Amino acid sequence: MLQKTSHFMKQANLINGEWVQADSGQTIDVINPATGLKIGTVPKAGRNETRRAIEAAEEAFKSWKKTSALERSKLLRKLHDAILDNQDALAELLTIEQGKSLTESRGEIASSAAYVLWFAEEARRTYGDVVPSPWADRRIIVNREPVGVIAAITPWNFPSSMLSRKIGPALAAGCTAVVKPASQTPYSGLAWGALCEEVGIPKGVVNIVTGSAGEIGDELCTNPLVKKITFTGSTEVGKILIEKSASTVKKVSMELGGNAPFLVFDDADLDRAVQGAITAKYRNSGQTCVCTNRFFVQAGIYEEFVQKLAEASKQLKVGSGLEDGVQQGPLIDEKAVEKVEEFIADAISNGGRVVAGGKRHELGGSFFQPTVIADATTGMKFMKEEIFGPVAPVFKFETEEEAIKLANDTEFGLAAYFYTGDLGRAFRVMEGLKYGMVGVNEGLITTPEAPFGGVKESGLGREGGHQGIDDYLDTKYVCIGGLGL
Ligand code: ADP
Repeated sequence: MLQKTSHFMKQANLINGEWVQADSGQTIDVINPATGLKIGTVPKAGRNETRRAIEAAEEAFKSWKKTSALERSKLLRKLHDAILDNQDALAELLTIEQGKSLTESRGEIASSAAYVLWFAEEARRTYGDVVPSPWADRRIIVNREPVGVIAAITPWNFPSSMLSRKIGPALAAGCTAVVKPASQTPYSGLAWGALCEEVGIPKGVVNIVTGSAGEIGDELCTNPLVKKITFTGSTEVGKILIEKSASTVKKVSMELGGNAPFLVFDDADLDRAVQGAITAKYRNSGQTCVCTNRFFVQAGIYEEFVQKLAEASKQLKVGSGLEDGVQQGPLIDEKAVEKVEEFIADAISNGGRVVAGGKRHELGGSFFQPTVIADATTGMKFMKEEIFGPVAPVFKFETEEEAIKLANDTEFGLAAYFYTGDLGRAFRVMEGLKYGMVGVNEGLITTPEAPFGGVKESGLGREGGHQGIDDYLDTKYVCIGGLGL
C-alpha cells in the first residue's frame, strides 16, 4: 500500500534543492494514529539547519523576485496540475499520518490544488496605483513588491492545505519560503518539496525543515533575513511567535484557535441544521479550528434538535481512514483522547447529559465515539476552551439577544454558524457576531475565493480571497519629481 505514496514520502529535509538529514543525524518517529505503528522517520533539525534554509531562500529570492508574474503563474498552474495528478497518492499519505478518512484526505488535497490555482491567478493581479498628484510636476506611483523570505509553520490537522494557503501566495507574490510542518504529520509537508521539484520550481525557493519546534521557530522568528512569519496553530504558540518576531519587526499572519458557536433558532430548517451540525462538528474528528465548539439551540426546538443530532452522530462510521465508508478516523494521539475525556467528565460532573457516545471507541487506540452532550451550561469547560475532538455540547437559549451574547462570550473570533428562516434575523445575527467568518444556514464555508481568518485572539491576516496575497507584498510609494511639466 505504501508503494503509491512512497515517491512523496520523503524522510529528509529539503534545503537549497538537496534532500538532507539533520546535522546531528537524529530523527523523529512518525506514527500512524490508526494503528499506533511507526511509518518512518524525519530529521530532527534545529537552529543551524534552519539558518542554512533561510540563507538558501535569501539567495534564491534574488532571482525568483525577478521572474515575471506570468512565469510564476504558469509554474503554479503546473503545481496545481501535479497535485491533482497525484491526488490519490497524496491523500493516502495524508490518511496514513493524520488519520482522517480517505474521502476527507482527497478533499483536502483537492483544496490544496484549488488554493494554488487561485494564487496562480492572483499572481497576475497584484496591481499597484497611479495616484492623482497634488503637484503639477510630480507623479505618484504605488508599487507592490514581494516582502522577501517568508517562514511558514503549520499544524497537523490539515498538513497539506494549510501549506497551500501559504506557499501559494508566497510564490505568487515572488517570495521564497522556509517551511516547518508539524512533527506529527511531516510527510504531507515534505511532499510539497517533491511536487515543487517535479514542476521545476528553482532550488532554494521552497525549503522544508522538520524537527525541534522551539529551535526552528526561534531561528525563523529572530533571523533578520526572514521578513514574514505565517503560522496556523494554537493561540498559545501564536502569541509566542508574535512576541519573538517583535525583535526584528516582521510581518505576521496568524490563524489561531477558535471556539465556534453554532446557533439554531426556532424558525430554522431543522433537518438542514442537523446536517450542517454534523459537518461542522465531526469533520476531521472535530479537529479543526472552525469546528463547532458550542451548539446553542432555542428552547422551542431544543429537545428535537438534540435527539436528531444524537441519532445522526450515532450513524457515523468510525474506523481506519483507509477503510471504505469510514467517516470518522482516530484522534491524532492519546493526549487528544485524554483531553476529550476531561471535557466529558467535567460536563457530567456539572449536570451534562450524554445522549450519544461519551466513551473511547471499541476499536481502541485513539478512536473515540461521536458524542453529544445535552444540558450544557456556561460553567462547563466547553464554554472557554477548544475541544478539538468529536464532542458536541448543546446549550439552550430563549432569546436572540441572549444567543448573540453567549456566542460572543469568548476571547476567540474565528468561525460562527447560525440557522434561521427569517431574513431580518439573519442580518441582525450576522451583524451581531464578532467573528471573522459566518456561515448562515451553512456548516462548511471554506473556499479559496473567500478570505479565511479570525478576529480577537483568533488571529491576524487573511488566507484566500484577493486579501490572501496582501501580507506577502510590501507597498512602495514612488514620487517622481522634476518632470518640468
Ligand atoms: P496544535 O495544538 O494544533 O498542535 P501548535 O500550536 O502546538 O498547535 O502547533 C502548530 C505548529 O507550531 C506545529 O508545527 C508545532 O510544531 C509548532 N510549534 C509548537 N511550539 C512552537 C514554538 N514554541 N515555536 C515555534 N513553533 C512551534
